[in-house]
Amino acid sequence: MDAWKAGIDTTRPSIARAYDVVLNGKDNFEVDRAFVAEIVKVVPEIYDVATYNRQILGRGVRFMCAEGVTQFIDLGSGLPTVENTHHVAQRANPEARVVYVDNDPMVLAHGRALLAENENTAVVTSDLRDPASILADPAVRELVDFDRPVGVMLVGILHHLHDDEDPKGIVEAYMAAVPPGSHLFITHFCDSSQEARDAEKKFLALLGTGRFRTPEEITAFFDGFELLEPGLVPLPLWRPDEPAPANLTVGQRLMYGGIARKG
Ligand code: SAM
Repeated sequence: MDAWKAGIDTTRPSIARAYDVVLNGKDNFEVDRAFVAEIVKVVPEIYDVATYNRQILGRGVRFMCAEGVTQFIDLGSGLPTVENTHHVAQRANPEARVVYVDNDPMVLAHGRALLAENENTAVVTSDLRDPASILADPAVRELVDFDRPVGVMLVGILHHLHDDEDPKGIVEAYMAAVPPGSHLFITHFCDSSQEARDAEKKFLALLGTGRFRTPEEITAFFDGFELLEPGLVPLPLWRPDEPAPANLTVGQRLMYGGIARKG
C-alpha cells in the first residue's frame, strides 16, 4: 500500500508510529525513528517504558476480566502489536468484546486485516476527543451493550491531550455512558523528574503534543469513582506479576497508572 494513498503522512512523526518504534515494531518511518532518537537522549530507558506500559495493559485487562468486565472500549489503542487487548481479554473469556478506537490511518489499515476474522472485535477510526460521535458509532453500538459493565481504557493517551481540550470532560463523557460496575483504566506520563520535563519539551516541539501531569493531576481523572488498590502508582508497582523493584529508576517512574470502578 502506498502511504500517501492511505492518508499516511511520512514527513512528520506520528504518535502511533513512534510508539511502534519503541516497541521494536516495523510499522514506522525514518521521521518516527528520528523522533525517538531525540527522546532517547533525555530518557535512554524509553524502550523499557513502552514495555512497562504494554505489561500493565495486560495486567489491567486481566484484572478487569476477573472483576467480571466482558467488554472493552480501548481509546487510543495504537498499532496492533503482540498481546493486544482482545488477545488478553479473549484468553480470559472467549466471548469478550473489544472496540479499538484510534485516529491514525495506519492503525485502521493494519487493524482491519488483523481483526477481519474476529467477530467480537472492531476497529473504529475516530478522534477520541469526540465522545458523542464515538459512543454513537454503529460499530460501537453493535458490539457494546451499554447496560452491562464496560472497561473504558485510556492507556498511554491522555498526556497527548492539552488542558484546553478538556481531557477531564472527555473522560467524564465516556464514564457517564457506561453503567455501574464499569472500570476506568488510565496510564499517563508523569511529571516525575527533570528527565520527564525534558522529554515533555521534546514531545511538544517535535510531536506537537505533550502534557506530563503530576500524580495529583492524573488522580483527578478518577474523581467520582473508586480508585482500586494500589491506587495510582508508577507502572511497575501496579499489581506486579513479579516482585516490584525497591528503588525505581527514572524510566520506571516516567508513567503512572491506575484503575477505578464506577459504583
Ligand atoms: N493504548 C496503546 C498502549 O498503551 O499500548 C497505544 C498507546 S499510543 C502511545 C497512543 C495512541 O493514541 C496512538 O496510536 C495514537 O494514534 C492515538 N491517538 C492520539 N491522539 C488520538 C485522538 N485524538 N483520537 C484517537 N486516537 C488518538
